Order: sequence, then structure tokens, then C-alpha cells
Amino acid sequence: MAASLHIAGIRKVFGKGDKTVEVLKKIDIEVAPGEFLILVGPSGCGKSTLLNIIAGLEEPSEGELRIAGKNVVGVAPAQRDIAMVFQSYALYPTMSVADNIGFALEMRKVPVEQRKKRIGEVAAMLQIEHLLDRRPAQLSGGQRQRVAMGRALARDPQLFLFDEPLSNLDAKLRVEMRAEIKRLHQVSGITSVYVTHDQIEAMTLGSRIAVMKDGILQQIGTPDDIYNRPANTYVATFIGSPT
Ligand code: ADP
Ligand code: MG
Repeated sequence: MAASLHIAGIRKVFGKGDKTVEVLKKIDIEVAPGEFLILVGPSGCGKSTLLNIIAGLEEPSEGELRIAGKNVVGVAPAQRDIAMVFQSYALYPTMSVADNIGFALEMRKVPVEQRKKRIGEVAAMLQIEHLLDRRPAQLSGGQRQRVAMGRALARDPQLFLFDEPLSNLDAKLRVEMRAEIKRLHQVSGITSVYVTHDQIEAMTLGSRIAVMKDGILQQIGTPDDIYNRPANTYVATFIGSPT
């Protein structure tokens, strides 16, 4: 079952005393089970901070956060059942692709037969069955990215978080991996939040897009809403809507 994500009144203040900065200002977002939500905005607007709060790598200064209806504020990251993919992904260089994908399961003492089965399922989802015996050094950039996603998927997370996973790839590969991520979402059905500063990526990938600026949510809607009915001039200019 895919999880819902409930974000209400989330604030984040960094620093102490008179040197504080409010990076997130009362963010409200509802993500439906199985949805693929894009969070887009310029560099420094607070996207990664919000994602880190969802993952439990940072705690919010204020607000509610629920995954599948359960409060997760104060819950350890490992207990949140979340997978995260970043732009810099380090695969274990001495391990095969199969072992990279299965590592988290091995740590959890999942029996070897069950582990093999799951590695096979994940490899099929990502169409990397033929690469399972290779080492990371024998893979292309796109293949490595797929393995990193496979490793994240292996634990069957209830939420998938992406933080600009494609920003280190060249333009051609980026387009290819966008299609791959879209397909992966369709076959896995996992509720996903995908962060990017790239308007084109946002418009092509998401069924719903949240536009953020300076820690404030400017608008949330379908690509059609955002493009044709921008909430304000900032959104219109950022997305490049016709005037
Ligand atoms: P984005 O991912 O949209 O580029 P971030 O969430 O990384 O933005 O950062 C938002 C703002 O918060 C930036 O101004 C950044 O400098 C600041 N920031 C992020 N993490 C910290 C931290 N640990 N301490 C202080 N300021 C931080
Ligand atoms: Mg960021």
C-alpha cells in the first residue's frame, strides 16, 4: 500500500540568538498515496531542507508531519521507511551490483533466498538484470544511477525522496533518466517527492508541482494550472508562462 504524506505548518529556523534565519515558513503540502509530486524552486529556497525534514535528517522547528497517517516528528530516520536518492550517490566500489542492491537487506538480516528474490525484482523493475555481476567501475553514469535507485528501492520503502538526482548527468542522459524515473514510478507505485531547480524537468516529470521561493510555497497544482493559471508573477516568470 502506498503511503500518504501530510505536511502542515512546517517551519524551520536555523541558527541561534539574533543570528537566526527562517528557511521554511509554514509549509503545507498534502501528497496522495502513489502520487509523484515535484518540488521546484531556485537554489537556496529551502527544497533540500524540507526533504531532509521529511526523511528525518533534520527536525522541524514547528509543524506536523505524517506518513501514512502516522506522526513522524521525532521518529528516527531508519524507522520512517523512506528511500532517498541524491545527485551524489556512492556505490560500494568493491561490491557487485547485486550486492550493492542487497546490502540494506543483508544489514537487516533478511535471509539469502528472500534477498535474492528481491534483488531480482528490483533489477527487473530497473531493467538492469544483465548488470548484476558487474562492479560499479564497469558501469556507465546512467547505469550507476539506476543501481543507486535499485539500492534505495530494495527495502520496499513507503516513500521515495529524490533530491536533484540528475543534476550531475549530461543533458542527453538526463532526458533518458527522467523517462526511467517516470517508468519506475509507474511500475512501483511508490509515493514520491522529487526536488529540482529545473523548470523543464518539473513540467515534464510531475503530475503535480509545488513551486517554492524563499521558504514559502507559491503555488501547488498540475503543470497545466502552473503554466496557464500561475498564482502570481513570480510563478509566471519562473515557469515562463505566456504573458
Ligand atoms: P535548496 O535545496 O532549495 O537549494 P536548502 O534547503 O539547501 O535550499 O537551503 C535553504 C537555505 O537554508 C539556504 O539559505 C541555506 O544556506 C540554509 N541552510 C541550509 N542548511 C543549513 C544549516 N544547517 N544551517 C544554516 N543554514 C542552512
Ligand atoms: Mg538543495
